[in-house]
Amino acid sequence: MSTNRPSPPPRHLLRVGRFFSVPIYFAPSWVIIAALLTISYAPVVAAQVPHVSASSAYLLAFAFAVLFALCVLAHELGHTAVSLLLGLRVRRVVIFLLGGVSEIEHDPQRPRDELLVSLAGPLVSVVITAACFGAYTVVDPRSMLGVMVLLLAWSNLIVAAFNLLPGLPLDGGRVFRAVVWGLSGSRLTGTRVGAWSGRVVAVLVAGSALILDRGTWGISAGIIGVALAAYLWFGAGQSLRAAQILDRLPSVSLQRLLRPGLLVPWDLSVAEALRRAWSGNARGLVVVDAADAPRAIVDEAQISAVPLDRRPWTSLSTVSRPLEPGLILPVGLQGEALLDAVRATPAHEYLVVNADGSPAGILATADLAAALQRPATA
Ligand SMILES: [Zn+2]
Repeated sequence: MSTNRPSPPPRHLLRVGRFFSVPIYFAPSWVIIAALLTISYAPVVAAQVPHVSASSAYLLAFAFAVLFALCVLAHELGHTAVSLLLGLRVRRVVIFLLGGVSEIEHDPQRPRDELLVSLAGPLVSVVITAACFGAYTVVDPRSMLGVMVLLLAWSNLIVAAFNLLPGLPLDGGRVFRAVVWGLSGSRLTGTRVGAWSGRVVAVLVAGSALILDRGTWGISAGIIGVALAAYLWFGAGQSLRAAQILDRLPSVSLQRLLRPGLLVPWDLSVAEALRRAWSGNARGLVVVDAADAPRAIVDEAQISAVPLDRRPWTSLSTVSRPLEPGLILPVGLQGEALLDAVRATPAHEYLVVNADGSPAGILATADLAAALQRPATA
């Protein structure tokens, strides 16, 4: 699958390599799946291959787990390669549990690009499936190699089929969205249809897993099915919210979100700074130095948290953040560029400056978030 959702920094991820400029990571959760696959498939190997020792069966099952992860990686690199060919930057590829994700920095801007990126992953899985079934016809089915090839064929077939289910956030859902987008001319309409289809798919996955699995509770197909369904249900909702934000983004401009700010000297107390802000109807405070140059921005949450009796004795420096370059935004920013700037340096408040560098006002991140989540008026 592929996504443009921003994700946490790769603290707990193991970097295993690069694909062109794109780093590839494995999440620690993958080890759990490798262990589960090894334990559940060793008996399958032992039953299929005559005279195989227990240790060889476990070794082969573990090798299958590793090769399967590489197949999932190949699926993701399919998405990544097509994204790069279309000029879309890919932040990284992460392999976790049973799946993986290619994090694309910006969503495709054309339905055709969305279609190509989405299809590339499942296409790789289908090619691997076909190659493995082909190889199975020429190897001894009762040999270690025969069992391995058959396991890889079926597992890749399942990856391709599952990912092609026509609901967001799955690849098939993105294909569906691209088609509706192309026909309707509206990305948001495509996403709405894809997201609702994703919820229908989630219910069908949960329902069929429970019906097929009646009676055998434990770590069973039923539980895995319900977990997958929950993942799909919430993923569909997230896709919809992301699309609404993307739809509203072009109309969001910094100019309209500006809060009036007030310049205050650094040696002022919190009590006096707040008094001046209230009397001047300012909704943000910028700390300036002796030459009136902005040096820091006051954090609204922090200054509000100072107890009343402490305010006359608390200095502004304890409730403000020094102005690093990322906290200063030019007033002309809008749409995606604005969101990118805020994402690059996360903060509660930013100083907005005119073209000549003079302060124009304050941007509060809460106002930006509200503008992006407000129901569309048109
Ligand atoms: Zn995929």
